[in-house]
Formats: sequence, C-alpha cells, structure tokens
Amino acid sequence: MSDTLTISHPQKPVVLGRTARWHIVVRFGEIALKKGNKRWFMQKLRSNVERTLTGLPVSDVTIRPNRCFVQVDDVSAWPEISERLANVPGVIHFSLALVVPPDIEAIKEAYAILAPETPESFRVRARRGDKRFPLRSPEIEDVVGQWIKDRTGARVDLSNAELTFGVDIQKEGAFTFVEQIDGPGGLPVGTAEGKVVVLLSGGIDSPVAAYRLLKRGCKVELVHFTSYPLVDRSSWDKCRTLTQMLAKYQYEVNLHIVPLGEVQQRIVVAVPARYRILMYRRMMLRIGERIAVKHRCQAIVTGEALGQVGSQTLTNLVSIESAIDTPVLRPLIGLDKHEIIDEAKRLGTYETSIEPDMDCCQYLMPPKVATSSSPVELAKVESDLDIEELVAMALDGVSVEEFRWPDVK
Ligand code: ATP
Ligand code: MG
Repeated sequence: MSDTLTISHPQKPVVLGRTARWHIVVRFGEIALKKGNKRWFMQKLRSNVERTLTGLPVSDVTIRPNRCFVQVDDVSAWPEISERLANVPGVIHFSLALVVPPDIEAIKEAYAILAPETPESFRVRARRGDKRFPLRSPEIEDVVGQWIKDRTGARVDLSNAELTFGVDIQKEGAFTFVEQIDGPGGLPVGTAEGKVVVLLSGGIDSPVAAYRLLKRGCKVELVHFTSYPLVDRSSWDKCRTLTQMLAKYQYEVNLHIVPLGEVQQRIVVAVPARYRILMYRRMMLRIGERIAVKHRCQAIVTGEALGQVGSQTLTNLVSIESAIDTPVLRPLIGLDKHEIIDEAKRLGTYETSIEPDMDCCQYLMPPKVATSSSPVELAKVESDLDIEELVAMALDGVSVEEFRWPDVK
C-alpha cells in the first residue's frame, strides 16, 4: 500500500461493457438555504460556472436542487477545470464524478476505476436523488461498503476515513466520486442587488476587501488614485495586475485611474501637515462618490481596519466619511493585519501587493498624522479649498481600463 492515493481519470472508462462519462458535481453552500429566490440564485451560479469554464472542454450544465452537473468532454483538462471552479463564489465544493448506469454492479466497477489503490480506511456516502432506485441510501452504503471491504481488506471508518466513496443516484445515472474539492463558498457574483466602488490602493488590504464583497455576490468598480506623473507608475501597474486577478470572480471589471497629484499639491499648501492624509482620504471618498453615482453603485468600500495605522482610528474613520453621503463599507474593520495577510496569500494577491511602489499617499507624506479628529474640525481645516473645483479637476483626468477573464478570443 502506498502513502498517497492515486486518483485515476482514464479518458474512456468502460463500465458494464459501455463507455462511462465524466461529469462534475458542483454543490452550493448558502444558496441551498434561499427560499423564494433560489431559482434565480441557481441560474446566476450556472451562468457563472459556464463563464468560468469558457474555452475548456465541458458542455451541458444541468441544474438540480442544491447542485449542478457539468459534462466533461475531455478529462485531461480536469486540472485546469478544477483550478478555475475553485474560484467561483457560491460553490461550496465539487467533485469529478464517473457517471455509470444506476446499477449496483456498475457502481462497484466505478469504484475500482476511481480508486485503483487500496486506502487504509474508507466509507461510502450514498444519496438517492432518484427514488426509483430499488435500494435506499443506507442500503447502498451497506452493500457497496461490504463489497469494497471484501475486495480490498480496507477498514471502514465512518468518522475519519482516508477515502470517501460518494454515490449520488440521479435520473441520468449514478454519479460516483472519491474526491471533493473546496470552493470559496459565499454567493454567486451578481446576486447582490447593486454594485460598489472599491478604493484599490495596490497595498495588501484593499484587494482582500474587494474579494470579500465579490464573495458575497456584489459586483465592483475599482478606483485607484495615483500621483503619476509626479511619481512613477508603480502603484498603477500593481493595480492592473490585481484587477486582472479580481477579474477571475467578476469576468468583466473596470479599473478607474484617477490622477490625484495636483489635488494633493493644493491640499499641501492649504492645510496643516498633520491633516494631509485625512484630506487626501476625504477627497478620495468625494471623487469615489461621483464615480459611484455615475456607475449606479450604492456604497464605497475601503480596506481600512480599525487602528491599523494613525489615519484609521475610530474618530478619523468617522470624520473622513463625513465628507460624503454614500455609505462606506469596511469589510476588514475587525481584522488583524496578519489575518488580512493570510487571506491575501490564499487569494494570490499578496506577492503583488508587497512589491515596492510609489503610492499617492507616500507622495507629500507628512511627518506625523493626526490620530484624532472630528467632522467639524476637518470641515474647518479644508474651508479654504475649493472642493468642487478639485473634484472636477480629478474627474477630468480619469481613465478607465477594462479587464476580462477568461481571456478567450
Ligand atoms: P492597503 O490598505 O490596501 O494595504 P495601504 O495600507 O497602502 O493599502 P492604507 O493607507 O491602509 O493603504 O489606506 C486605507 C484604504 O484607503 C485602502 O485600503 C484603500 O481602500 C484606500 N486607499 C489608500 N490609498 C489609495 C489609493 N492610492 N487609491 C485608492 N484607494 C486608496
Ligand atoms: Mg491598509
């Protein structure tokens, strides 16, 4: 017996003398709990699954209560298929299944194909979706379990088995599988009513904040502020890479690039140095709000976390957001930096985020930031600035870049 099990995926498996087919069984998490709108959620997930698998050899997506089936036409593409599916919000887990006739002998043959190596311990999990099948779920588990035990000598372990043999009887046949791969959970992107603007800095936090909203079904418009051409384009370039990564979840995403350098220069001459960063942030929210209105977004999202840096104390967060009427969502508010880093690593954005850059907040950075402020105080501090003019100046220079994924011609 070897230490690791080899899962075999032969291109044309033969069961009961007939060619068997490969399908993916995709299971949904929270959608299963939806009542009236469940169909709509499922349709959305189905179209997201189809979109995600564009260009890969799959066909026929069928929806059933709490799962969907996707036919795999060429199983050699499974590594790429599974890598992509693992990123679809709404999917809790999925399996590559061999679909065989609904017949106990065929199910045994399927096991032999799927698990050519003997595991140390195993269990059988059966589900009879098609009630015409003569055996009930526990009976299928008993009969197939006994057969595997007699044939291989492996031990049955119901709580901690090395291998679980899944059998799902549907009207198309028996879906059999030995592997279960985790999806992200959450809700299908596009199921939240409305959209948000995410302020994307190129740092570690904001891509994670964007992902949190995407995972709850919300679509995003990404907005990056740059001091280019007064500094180099490094943060802009990082945001492009990050946007390309986030496009995996939304398929089509806009990155709005807003030149902030001149606005910053105006702020620097008009306000005391310790308020500078707070003023930059108020301007970012004001400009973000205009973009939100234009693109019908209901809220603005930032990667701020309480107390992470001096500009993110509670009083500062409150007085920064008092500049606008649109709600500001901060999905990372209660997370420690190391928790955000862990999530950025899982997401794959971390390596890009830590590349050195010249962000607009580093440009004309004050030596010290006011760690406490009030809305009235900040309104007074900026009273010499023509805010409308500054907003208009920045909006005048906005450019929009469109990103698509998968990038299939
Ligand atoms: P991150 O928070 O993404 O790691 P950071 O630490 O450089 O980047 P902070 O100073 O923590 O940024 O800024 C707090 C939040 O303000 C960011 O999470 C982001 O939402 C927003 N923000 C800051 N700088 C920019 C920028 N140049 N463009 C767009 N949004 C920005
Ligand atoms: Mg931060």
